[in-house]
Amino acid sequence: MGPPYEYLKRENMAFDKTEAEKLLADCARRCCICGRLHRVQIHHIVPGNDNIENGIPLCPNCHDEAHTSYSSGRTTRTYTAAELKLHRQRTVDQVKREAKWKPGGTDWKKDKKLIIFFAQCLDRPAFRNYFHQELSFADFDQAMEDTLVALNTGYWRTRDGTLIERAKGKVCIINASWREKIEKITVIIEDIRRRFHKTFGLNEMLFHIRGPHRFYNRDLDEFMNGFRHDRDLGNWMDTKRQETINLMNSLLAELGLQPLQGLREH
Ligand SMILES: [Zn+2]
Repeated sequence: MGPPYEYLKRENMAFDKTEAEKLLADCARRCCICGRLHRVQIHHIVPGNDNIENGIPLCPNCHDEAHTSYSSGRTTRTYTAAELKLHRQRTVDQVKREAKWKPGGTDWKKDKKLIIFFAQCLDRPAFRNYFHQELSFADFDQAMEDTLVALNTGYWRTRDGTLIERAKGKVCIINASWREKIEKITVIIEDIRRRFHKTFGLNEMLFHIRGPHRFYNRDLDEFMNGFRHDRDLGNWMDTKRQETINLMNSLLAELGLQPLQGLREH
C-alpha cells in the first residue's frame, strides 16, 4: 500500500462523479465526524463498494482513524459501518436544519442550551487564574483536558471522573458561525495543552504517573513549580486562555447572556 493520500485518491475516483458531488454538497463539504472543512473527501464506509450509499465525506484525520479498522496489523475498530452512516445522516440533517435556523426557533434554543453548557465548562479556576498564580499545574493540565473532552463530546466530569452533565459535542451546534467559534476555542485549548506538555516534557511522565485513574502526586507539582516564573510561558498561557474567554463571551453577548469573567488577579 502506498502513502495514505495515494490510496485516498484512488478510492475517491471510484464513486460516480455526479453522485459524489451531490453527497459533498448535501454535507456542505463538511467532515461527517468532526465537522471540519479541511481537505474533505469521500471515503468508503465498507471497502470495495462504489455505490454512493457507501460513501462518507471525511477529513484526512478522521479518514485515517476510520481506516485503522481495515489496515493490516491493526485490531482496533474505531468506527463501525453503522456509526459512520449515522454520522453521515446527522451531517446531512444538520445542513438542512442550518438553512432553516432562525433566532428564537427550535434549533436556536438547542444551540443556546449547548453554548450555555460550553460556557459553564470554561467557567472554572483554570480559566480565571493567571499562570503564575496557578495553585496546581497538574490540576491545570487536567482541567484543560476535561474542558476539551466536554467541548468535543459533551461529557463533563469532575476531577475524580464523576459525570456532571451529558450534553452534545460541539459538532452538533447548528449555527455555523457559533460552531466555528467553539471549534476555535478547542483549537486554542489543544495548543495550550501541546505547549504545556512540551514545556514540561510531560507526555512520557503522565503516562507513567497518571495510570488508569485520575490522580497526581505532589512530586509532579513540585517539579512544575520551577516553571511558575517563566514570563514568556506565563504571558502566552494567559493570552491564549483569554482568547478562549473572549470567543465565548462574544457568543454569550449574541445570546444576551452575562459574560464570563476571564483572567483576573486574586
Ligand atoms: Zn474530520
